[in-house]
Order: sequence, then C-alpha cells, then structure tokens
Amino acid sequence: MKKYDYIIAGGGMAGLSLAYYISQSKLRDKSILIVDKEAKDQNDRTWCFWERETGPFEPVLFRKWNTVDFYGTTLSGSLNIGDYQYKMLRGIDFYDHVKAHLAQFSNIEFRLGTVNRMKDTADGGFLIVDDEPMIADLIFDSTHPLNLRDPANHNLLQHFKGWVITAQKPCFDVARPRMMDFRVAQEGDCRFLYVLPFDEKTAMVEYTIFNDHLLTPEQYEQSLRTYIDTYIDTGGYQISETEFGVIPMSDVPTPEHPGDHIVRIGTAGGYTKPSTGYTFQRTQQNLRELVNMLAATGRPERRKPWLMQTFKGLLDSVLLNVLQYKRHPADDIFTRLYERNPPARIFRFLDEETSLWEDLRIMSTVPLGPFTVGAFDVMRKRVF
Ligand SMILES: Cc1cc2nc3c(=O)[nH]c(=O)nc-3n(C[C@H](O)[C@H](O)[C@H](O)COP(=O)(O)OP(=O)(O)OC[C@H]3O[C@@H](n4cnc5c(N)ncnc54)[C@H](O)[C@@H]3O)c2cc1C
Repeated sequence: MKKYDYIIAGGGMAGLSLAYYISQSKLRDKSILIVDKEAKDQNDRTWCFWERETGPFEPVLFRKWNTVDFYGTTLSGSLNIGDYQYKMLRGIDFYDHVKAHLAQFSNIEFRLGTVNRMKDTADGGFLIVDDEPMIADLIFDSTHPLNLRDPANHNLLQHFKGWVITAQKPCFDVARPRMMDFRVAQEGDCRFLYVLPFDEKTAMVEYTIFNDHLLTPEQYEQSLRTYIDTYIDTGGYQISETEFGVIPMSDVPTPEHPGDHIVRIGTAGGYTKPSTGYTFQRTQQNLRELVNMLAATGRPERRKPWLMQTFKGLLDSVLLNVLQYKRHPADDIFTRLYERNPPARIFRFLDEETSLWEDLRIMSTVPLGPFTVGAFDVMRKRVF
C-alpha cells in the first residue's frame, strides 16, 4: 500500500493553498499526494476579497481596485475603503500559478481520481482513491460535504449566476466596481448584483441571492437581463463567460479534526464565514497558521481564542437568524452597516479582526428589535 507523509484530498482552493504554504515551510521535503477528481484546468470560479497587504497571489490577480461602489436603501455611491484594496482572482490563474510552483517539487505528486473512502486508523489516515488504498501520517480533507439539513442550525445558501459581458458602447468605469447593488426586487430575501469592470466595455455582472432554495436558470438570467437593461447603458452586449455557484451560509458545527490523522480544511473545515460566504482570505489565513503550527510543533492545529471565536460565531448566527426568518429587510441591514460605520471597519469586522468594543459599536448600527429577537432565538436553539 502506498504511504505518504501527507495526502491532500481535494486539490481546489484550500488543497492547493495548503500545498503552496507547505512548500514554503521547513516541511517542504515531506512526501505529498494531492488528489482531485477534476483536473482544475477550467476557470470554474472567481474570487473577490479585500486585503491591505500585498498577498501571496498578487502576481496573478486579475484586477484590483482602491474603491468600491455600494447601492442600498439610503446609501448610494463610492465607499471609502481606506488602505484596503478590493481584489479579483480568477480560478484558472490561481490553479495554474500554484500548480506551476508545485511542479518544482519532486516530492509532490498529483493524481486525478475520486476519493471513495476515508478513515482514521491507528497507523494513519487511510484513503481509497478509485480502487487503490493508501495511507498517510495526515490527510487534509477538503472534500467532506457539510450537513446542511440539521434544523438545529441556520442553513442558508448563497447562490449566484454571473455573466462576463462585452458591451457595444463604453459603459463601465474601470476604477469603480459595484460591490453590492441592491436595486433589484428583493422578493423577501437578500438579493443583489455585483459588477466587476475589466475595461470600459467588459465586465462580470453577477446576481447573488441569500436564501434557502435555488432558482431556475431562467430566473437568474431574467434578473441579470433586467438589471443590465436598467442600470448599464450597454447599447447591446454579448455574453462570453458564465459562472454559477452555491456557497453554504451555515452555522452547522464543522469539526476540523474528525480523527487524529485527518484534518478538514477549506469549506469542509468550516473556513467559510457563515454570514457572508467569504472563504478565500480566511482559508489563506487559517492555512498559514496551520502550517506554521505543524512546522513548529508537529501538530496540525490553529490557535483559536475560544471566547472570541464563540462570540464572533454567535454574531454570525444572529445575522443568519435574522435573514433566515426574514426579521428585517436585508438590503436595509447591509445599508446601515456601510452607512453608519467606516467601510474599513466592516471589512475588519467580517475578517473577525475587530475588538469586542468595535463589535458592539457595529451591532448598535443594525435594527435592534429584529436582532434582539434573533439573538434570543439563537440562544434558545443552542440551549434546547
Ligand atoms: C463560483 C464560486 C465563486 C466563489 N466566489 C468567492 C469569492 O468571491 N470570495 C470568497 O471568499 N469565496 C468565494 N467562493 C467560496 C469559496 O472560496 C470557494 O468555494 C472555494 O473554492 C472553496 O475552497 P475549497 O478548497 O474548500 O473547495 P474547492 O475549491 O471546491 O475544492 C474542493 C475540491 O475537492 C474536489 N473533490 C470533491 N469531492 C471529491 C472526491 N470525492 N474525490 C476527489 N476530489 C474531490 C473538487 O473537485 C474540488 O476541486 C466561491 C465559490 C464558488 C463555487
């Protein structure tokens, strides 16, 4: 049976990022297998995130912006995002860049195959890829699906469909992406569009919904068409690419260590921010910490200040509760957050970098009644 130091199950965003950080640490000589059922040679997703520093994937960013536009209920226009930049990374550029880097390491192997079974044993993490058994000191698993059916938790979906369009007329301001534009029928959920301009005539336009059920393809497309026709003076346009995605927005507990030799990472490890779906930056941060810890102590863990994490998790649950039970219109909640706080504070809040005092200030800017009811309901669900 083949044996490795580490097997990375799932060579998507988290799996490749993990291998990337390991290759830059003193663990770089470990034998590593990366297994994925897909070749990851398609542009299957686009990541947007904000960042102050120069990040590890800066050379392959597709675009970055110093400001973003926001259209809400009582706030419209450009947000001052301070020293943050809003960055866009295309999936294919990330995959190609990381795979080219990893190709320099003869101890890192790739395998196209399906993980059929995984289990923790006394000798290591055991895995069957297609029909072949293998074992490793540690398996890093980003393939494990979340259980989004448990009624004890809040289980929303963030789902979206986007088009890259090329307009007949110059109609995009290349310096001003629209991060959230709520000028669409809310239908009792949370619905917005975002627009990422590539040049004066080309942009990605994406229709995003937070609720508990997917739409038909025609419904996403109809909303995209209506928005473009109403708010962008294209003079006619052509669609060159489409993107569809679903991200769990859930507070279901996600054990990161289901066994001594198995560590879940990425969405499977609970790295997705439940209240926003943002995963990319959290994954980078968590994996850097994990690799540092593994290199220093031999233990694949992250430092997690328990009290603060629990509190931040509670805030996520309360927002999910308010959205799930439609306690207050979501467009108004997001508008208040960005209108009554410096946007950079909201970015730090969503990155879980704010202090308790700042969290309380931010909470004082959302509608108190619905959030108080939501908070009690979250407590009730947790206790009973
Ligand atoms: C279209 C889209 C756009 C997104 N945009 C953003 C964004 O703008 N910002 C942000 O922060 N987050 C975004 N996300 C959320 C999140 O960042 C991505 O889903 C991210 O790819 C999650 O990384 P991951 O490694 O956990 O999962 P993935 O990248 O999906 O990697 C998991 C890998 O496991 C493989 N796999 C699964 N099961 C098996 C199996 N049984 N055997 C072998 N291989 C298997 C899959 O093929 C996949 O490659 C987006 C998600 C999607 C789908």
